[in-house]
Amino acid sequence: METISDYFGSLVFDDRVMKANLSSSVYASLRKTIDEGKKLDPKVADAVAAAMRDWAIAKGATHFTHWFQPLTGITAEKHDSFISHAPDGRVILEFSGKELIKGEPDASSFPSGGLRATFEARGYTAWDPTSYAFIKGKTLCIPTAFCSYGGEALDKKTPLLRSMEALNRQALRILRLFGNTEVKHVTSSVGPEQEYFLITEEMYRQRPDLRFCGRTLFGSTPPKGQEMDDHYFGSITPRVAAYMEDLNKELWKLGVFAKTEHNEVAPAQHELAPIYTTTNIATDHNQLTMEVMQRVAKKHGLVCLLHEKPFAGVNGSGKHNNWSIATDAGQNLLSPGETPYQDAQFLLFLCAVIKAVDDYQDLLRISVATAGNDHRLGANEAPPAVVSMFLGDELNAVLEAIETDTPYQGTRRTQMKLGVDVLPRFNRDTTDRNRTSPFAFTGNKFEFRMVGSADSIACCNIMLNSAVAESLRVYADQLEQAKDFDETLHTMIRDTIREHKRIIFNGNGYDDSWIKEATEVRGLCNFRTTADCLPHLMDRKNVEMLARHRVYSETELRARYEAILENYCKTIAIEAKTMLSMARTQILPAIEAYTASVAETAAAKKAVKKDLPCRYETGIVEKLSQLSDEIADRIDALEQAVRNLSSAASIEEESILVRDGVRDAMAALRTPCDEAETIVCKQYWPFPTYADILFSTK
Ligand code: ADP
Ligand code: MG
Repeated sequence: METISDYFGSLVFDDRVMKANLSSSVYASLRKTIDEGKKLDPKVADAVAAAMRDWAIAKGATHFTHWFQPLTGITAEKHDSFISHAPDGRVILEFSGKELIKGEPDASSFPSGGLRATFEARGYTAWDPTSYAFIKGKTLCIPTAFCSYGGEALDKKTPLLRSMEALNRQALRILRLFGNTEVKHVTSSVGPEQEYFLITEEMYRQRPDLRFCGRTLFGSTPPKGQEMDDHYFGSITPRVAAYMEDLNKELWKLGVFAKTEHNEVAPAQHELAPIYTTTNIATDHNQLTMEVMQRVAKKHGLVCLLHEKPFAGVNGSGKHNNWSIATDAGQNLLSPGETPYQDAQFLLFLCAVIKAVDDYQDLLRISVATAGNDHRLGANEAPPAVVSMFLGDELNAVLEAIETDTPYQGTRRTQMKLGVDVLPRFNRDTTDRNRTSPFAFTGNKFEFRMVGSADSIACCNIMLNSAVAESLRVYADQLEQAKDFDETLHTMIRDTIREHKRIIFNGNGYDDSWIKEATEVRGLCNFRTTADCLPHLMDRKNVEMLARHRVYSETELRARYEAILENYCKTIAIEAKTMLSMARTQILPAIEAYTASVAETAAAKKAVKKDLPCRYETGIVEKLSQLSDEIADRIDALEQAVRNLSSAASIEEESILVRDGVRDAMAALRTPCDEAETIVCKQYWPFPTYADILFSTK
């Protein structure tokens, strides 16, 4: 029987394949490029390309593509076949080093947030040798970065790689100060837990809102939702199990370490988590995972919904971004050590994260801002829109002891003198799992829980890596100048705790009282919507920090700003138009038809016996008549709100009109429609209800 190890990675041009198919000198040279970022010799590129081509063709591939991640958030590919003319008119299969290294797709149809206005439309893709090539269908996919001819990044991978490099640079400075001369490279690693909904294709096809927007725009609360808590970790139905089995197999072939799967809180909601890996690869793999999830679902007559909030009133979906930093020797820098110095180093890295999250809470919020995710943040299920950190009781006590220069009162009473005392061995499992915190320390990593399920994890990791690199830079600047290293270190850690402890919160993040305290007492940011937070992307401190670490130039950052706001406005405008169409051409006609049939029944009854009261029919006709008038009025109001958008002079202005006008008008239209759904006879209702959809895979 075929086992996992027979096919794991079978579609990946990974290290094993490279070693087997490249000469030892080419392999060594490529390895240097992958591990240390050394420039690739063109001759080596030719040899790699030839080996890649032969390997791919042997696996049935006919085409190759540069696979990249434009600002749309999904991946893009343009396929070229390997075929070329041979002089004798026959076909030969070619793929050169040049084709491997660089491609030139037309950039003009991808969002560039204004970069196109000032720069050429042409763009190029450049091979990222740190992420393995793979075969999808009949195409060899080469992970690439996507830039304009002026060199501006037009994608998500380029800034991600730059942020990893920034973190590496600054972390190495710190490690050297602690006497570590061996480490060559520091990288951030990520394990993203991916939530999703599975529904049947039959349900999906009948709902224009799901087809056009990925989420329902109408639907009354079903009689049964998630209140019984019977879905979470519940047994997986055969149909879903078959899907997961197939999904895993496809992902394994692509070298994705899909590890954990379970049912989530809401009915029809599930989760998949891979084993963590380097941020760059984790990001590529997560994009692939989302794609494969949708493709495999189709094969099973299912649809995988990745939207953050497909159904109102039941939990939405997120992506927990588990993040840590480690050296090439495998030392996790967010793990307490064995000696006083290792512990001091751990505390310094911990403080770097605390400072980063506090100083750049706005950037973290922005990094997860989408129209879809706005429904989730602050809706009593996902973390609130306020960014805060959870460290757990024991670590908190340690920090408090350092802050106040008092003995630590934990399992062992110790004075916390850094570089002298060993940290108490706090047990990972005793840190209780705070599930409401946006940014929780879980023993040797942080879990950032604000990311939306449909979003690329590139954005949040770019900001996280950069912000932490900035803290480390500030620390390294001071420590390199320090006369007394230990003293400076101790003061620095103490001061960080004093200055930034406002970001640490161990209570219930869903509580209204927390939001009040966070904003009024602690002065933390609370940006409810994408329109609220995005303008802060261009705040001086943010522009300067990201430019200092060469992650984004100001021009590149402005491009993101424009592209994200544009996407926000377009997404909601499409939703509004879909609502208008559904309300006009489906909901109102259904109400009218049912009203007519009830009225006919009353008339028929009265024809039999003139003085029958027909209270039931009269009540329904009156109620539905009132609702249809209300719906008609609200259709007009929403239509007007959408029309107003064209008067906006800028994308900022438009985003405010969307936030304040369109969204309210959409909510107002939904209410009478949902009420009508509970009255109108099921046969007349034009599309499946929540109850139908949410339990469709059962
Ligand atoms: P859960 O949060 O569901 O209890 P875990 O915390 O064990 O599960 O793991 C969740 C995710 O975190 C997985 O993708 C796992 O690979 C990842 N993870 C575990 N350790 C690390 C680490 N040091 N750095 C980054 N991710 C990690
Ligand atoms: Mg987790």
